[in-house]
Amino acid sequence: MKTIGLIGGMSWESSAEYYRIINEEVKGKLGGLHSAKCLLYSVDFDEIERYQAGGDWQSAGKALGEVAASLEKAGADFIVICTNTMHKVINYIEGKINIPVLHIADATANQIQKSNIKKVGLLGTKYTMEQDFYKSRIESNRINVLVPDKEERNNVNKVIYKELCLGQIKQSSKDYYKSVIQHLVDKGAEGIILGCTEIGLLVKPEDSEVPLFDTTAIHAIEAVNTAFKK
Ligand code: GLU
Repeated sequence: MKTIGLIGGMSWESSAEYYRIINEEVKGKLGGLHSAKCLLYSVDFDEIERYQAGGDWQSAGKALGEVAASLEKAGADFIVICTNTMHKVINYIEGKINIPVLHIADATANQIQKSNIKKVGLLGTKYTMEQDFYKSRIESNRINVLVPDKEERNNVNKVIYKELCLGQIKQSSKDYYKSVIQHLVDKGAEGIILGCTEIGLLVKPEDSEVPLFDTTAIHAIEAVNTAFKK
């Protein structure tokens, strides 16, 4: 079993999910007292969020690049960035290390392709929904990506930073997300990417009439599969 290097803390609410799912997967594969070999470097999200809000992606990338280098030095065999949004700075991270990074959008696109879905709705932070770094990676797999309208994007983003990353799960926000999902389905989405690692804490499969692709679970399971690859 390889050692998984997790860059977490963005937010720690979702990193805890990664840690749980990764360990459950290893236990499912090996049974008994087996658990995952992993290293979690959990950053102070306040620092990273300030860089995001200020558009200073270079500083964010440098900070996470140093984290990745520490994980490599500590013995990680590959890196998992436990947030969709911060894949925006994957080039900075890859530039600092000699081990691979397991891209969350590639793992997600693979799952979507397995379900034969060609058009998906995307929920995530405004960066993930509006910028190209994430959508284009999914679309390069011949999957069409739909995003909510501007007002909905702003509200979805607000729930992530003002509630989910602070551990607040509200019924009113769940109902709101359900309505946004329904609008995407009305526009032709055959599935929905929960493209922010906290959304799975709020929205569950029964909240949608089409399949949900929870990037946290997909990424965590793919990390374990990678850990067992020869
Ligand atoms: N965890 C979130 C994501 O998957 C948002 C927090 C962040 O900006 O990193 O995008």
